[in-house]
Amino acid sequence: MVQAFVDPTPSPLALLLLGNSADPDSERGVECPGDLPPASDPDLVARAQAAKDALGGRVFILGHHYQRDEVIQFADVTGDSFKLAQKAADKPDAEFIVFCGVHFMAESADILTADNQKVILPDLAAGCSMADMAEISQVEQCWADLEAAGVAAVTIPITYMNSTAAIKAFTGKHGGSICTSSNAKRSLEWAFERGEKVLFMPDQHLGRNTAVRELGLSLEDCVVFNPRKPSGGLTVEELQNAKMILWKGHCSVHGRFTPECVDRVRSEVPGVTVIVHPECTYEVVEKADQVGSTEKIITAIENAPAGSAWAIGTELNLVKRLALANPDKSITYLDKTVCFCSTMNRIDLPHLVYSLESLAGGNVINQISVDPDTAHWAKIALDRMLALPSSTPILD
Ligand code: SF4
Repeated sequence: MVQAFVDPTPSPLALLLLGNSADPDSERGVECPGDLPPASDPDLVARAQAAKDALGGRVFILGHHYQRDEVIQFADVTGDSFKLAQKAADKPDAEFIVFCGVHFMAESADILTADNQKVILPDLAAGCSMADMAEISQVEQCWADLEAAGVAAVTIPITYMNSTAAIKAFTGKHGGSICTSSNAKRSLEWAFERGEKVLFMPDQHLGRNTAVRELGLSLEDCVVFNPRKPSGGLTVEELQNAKMILWKGHCSVHGRFTPECVDRVRSEVPGVTVIVHPECTYEVVEKADQVGSTEKIITAIENAPAGSAWAIGTELNLVKRLALANPDKSITYLDKTVCFCSTMNRIDLPHLVYSLESLAGGNVINQISVDPDTAHWAKIALDRMLALPSSTPILD
């Protein structure tokens, strides 16, 4: 009988299951302290509003596009991760930045805001499966493998915004830049002006889609570095021949759309325009009519003529809101088996009420604080992105 090999070592960044508990195997293995109000409490909306009113200008609430409606209704601004971090930086008078998003977004907000501002993540277990696929020790080992292969000196790291502060700092220290899905092409061009190869982390799909579709590289120019295999599962020759070394990471939401989803929606919805996020696989993006960041998707739908039909491949909360806001257009979710971002959805009304009431009561909870050295190097990598000639305020 053949027995499947199961690696007994838990991932150092394993995600928590949904719930109000701790996972000792996870970096985010922290219990949400205090007693959350029950989700059944009929006064949750009133309590959140009362606590927000009590805090007044001391609090600024950021809501990512993928958040639940029950949370978004309290957001002072909605947007994508970097846009939200910039909005927070534009509010120096706000003592508390309550970030209704996931852990890496709150880290970026902490890096970009003033020292006296405190960034709060309503549920500390709200991670991001993609960001958590690149752990700093794995990245350092990868770089050692590139050095051993003799290619590190000609490799520029480009790191997607959806990454931990530690990986951003690594990127800053090694001469690289951060990118978003909106400026990934310009970031890669910048990198290839400085080196022969790019180490792209942590989303292999954004890296491949950009390199092949926008820079004209071939699929054969790309290799995938698997951090769970010795030397990433690559030979020295493969590393030396590659132009794009793609980290084996992906988004657990966008990675689930398939080419068959596109075929099916085309057969079911006459004249449909398929628009997908570049975190989708290369095969899906190739079959779609349009590809773009969350903000680009929003703009495309808002500017579409009445009566047009769209199928959207991105997170479900956003697609639902777009459908509600555009009743004159036919909006279909690209696949019915793909659902919400589970970690983003950990931020719910009970957690928001708990956070706001704690702050109003003088108890600072769930603060996200990046240590100064990490913040310094991460900011260098972020600043390189902002200095790109075509950098417009950021959308991912
Ligand atoms: S949608 Fe994907 S990339 Fe965005 S927070 Fe969720 S898991 Fe991370």
